[in-house]
Amino acid sequence: MQQTHISKLVKTAGEINGWFLDLIFPKFCFGCNVEGYYLCKNCSATLKIYHFPFCPICKNGTIGLAKCPKHKSYATFCLSPFSYNNNLIKNLIHKYKYEFVKDIGAELADFMIDSIKCSGLFSFSAFQLDNFLIVPVPLHRRRLTWRGFNQSEIIAKKIAEEFKIDFSNKNLVRILNNSPQIQMQDAKQREENIKNAFTCKNPQEIKNKIIILIDDIITTGATLEECARVLKKNGAKEVWAMTIAK
Ligand SMILES: [Zn+2]
Ligand SMILES: [Zn+2]
Repeated sequence: MQQTHISKLVKTAGEINGWFLDLIFPKFCFGCNVEGYYLCKNCSATLKIYHFPFCPICKNGTIGLAKCPKHKSYATFCLSPFSYNNNLIKNLIHKYKYEFVKDIGAELADFMIDSIKCSGLFSFSAFQLDNFLIVPVPLHRRRLTWRGFNQSEIIAKKIAEEFKIDFSNKNLVRILNNSPQIQMQDAKQREENIKNAFTCKNPQEIKNKIIILIDDIITTGATLEECARVLKKNGAKEVWAMTIAK
């Protein structure tokens, strides 16, 4: 093929990059093996997608922008489009986190974006998008070096771009490199393990803001709650947690 034809086909560096990546590592759907996606339209249509906020502690649905009446959580609520009990989702997240397939993040972020749109959370007239700030749950510096990317940051960035909300990944910082939460099942143990693991470097940036806190999964809610505690202690007005799966 002549050079001119190629340049008509691929217009931007991003497209060229994506094009070559697809040639080297073609994507196959985790559900049905069809080429082109990690989760194709047919398979995603079989999944139950949630778009109602819930309590980060008991996981019961919350109403409007209110907290769960039974729990004094730091995060107002959490929103997660998928259930982690679904094997397809579990495999995708595992591949994303532990086998470093970075591209999966963009596809998963799209489902979170749909879920946010369906939830109507950003359309409450009392809120303006410049009162929000998107913050990913940070990794410790050493863990970030080992993994090469922060899985929550990729998703957070995409959501920030979609809704044109400011994004901050330098403010909330993980200062303790304790054992991964996945190694402990007990809620109390997780809470102890994550205690004082985070700090806020620039309280001015989060002052009176509603922080959209992004993580990959919520299990006991200990990590998100600890981040939300630190953010609120440093002046954030509210913290809304969002994850891929619950
Ligand atoms: Zn499929
Ligand atoms: Zn609750």
